[in-house]
Amino acid sequence: MGEKRNIALLTSGGDASGMNAVIRTVTRYAIYNNLKVYGFYEGFKGLINNDFIVLDLNSVGGIIDRGGTFLYSARSEKFKCREGQKQAIDNLKKNKIEGLVVIGGDGSFRGAHELHKQGIQVVGIPATIDNDVAGTDYSIGFDTALNVIIDIMSKIRDTASSHERIFVVEVMGRNSGMIAVNTGIACGADYILIPEIEFDLAKIASQIKNHREGKRHTLVVVAEGAASASDVASSIKLLAGHEVRISVLGYIQRGGSPSALDRILAAEFGKKAVDLLLEGESDCMIGIKSMKIETSKFEDILEAKKNIDEDLYRLAHILAL
Ligand code: ATP
Repeated sequence: MGEKRNIALLTSGGDASGMNAVIRTVTRYAIYNNLKVYGFYEGFKGLINNDFIVLDLNSVGGIIDRGGTFLYSARSEKFKCREGQKQAIDNLKKNKIEGLVVIGGDGSFRGAHELHKQGIQVVGIPATIDNDVAGTDYSIGFDTALNVIIDIMSKIRDTASSHERIFVVEVMGRNSGMIAVNTGIACGADYILIPEIEFDLAKIASQIKNHREGKRHTLVVVAEGAASASDVASSIKLLAGHEVRISVLGYIQRGGSPSALDRILAAEFGKKAVDLLLEGESDCMIGIKSMKIETSKFEDILEAKKNIDEDLYRLAHILAL
């Protein structure tokens, strides 16, 4: 093995379960490859403030099963300006860091792309529960969030069914319906309301009013980017004349111990990130497409829109007949 070189990593944007498992993989696999690893605190903010810890094998022990990120995450307005980026680059150079792994969502990759344009070798690992990053079927944290939601939905279904109720459940996803569609199919929702596809609340209310004999409950999943649960519930109540209960799941969806899939992806993505840095690659994100680990250029994924699976959306509604 040659001279020991330095790489760094940071977690940025909204926290996602499995970020810690990625930090563990990158650190241990990099050390295995004779690299020294700097973990910057609070995303790009830590880069600007030169706030870091040198990670060793022990410092990433006992975190594989912990949600969130022990390096903390933050949003940094300062980093969006040249001035902030220059400070970050100066700190990377001062510490002789030759490669950077950015773990986060598309906003974080915009920042990473800026660093690349200014001569920094940087690769990205998608980690956001929203799963709204193009270039990968899965972002780390998405599967765990779905499992948390499914668990809660089963409880809501118990009450909905016992009382023959209509429930409107609001899930996260920012401008994406990805969480809502996958929740809907996995939980047997009757209606899924997402920003990508127009919906007609009058029609939905009329169907609910006339729904089949023997149906004990109605579950409506609404993505936060499509409408608020309270607005949907008010419309259904007004148009169908039934009582409607709402549940806004909120931040409970982001935490918790990572699922098996998120831990396995954390291992595969983290290893690939270190391999890419060792090969001299930059300006790209690792992802999984059709069960294969692939890389995409930041520019391509930042320009592309991640589409929801419309077949899955339609199937959920057919199965709710
Ligand atoms: P999530 O989807 O989970 O919220 P994200 O990575 O998309 O994750 P953002 O808040 O959009 O989260 O971005 C995280 C950080 O990336 C921002 O606070 C900012 O520091 C940096 N960033 C975002 N956009 C840019 C940009 N255009 N140029 C430079 N830096 C950026």
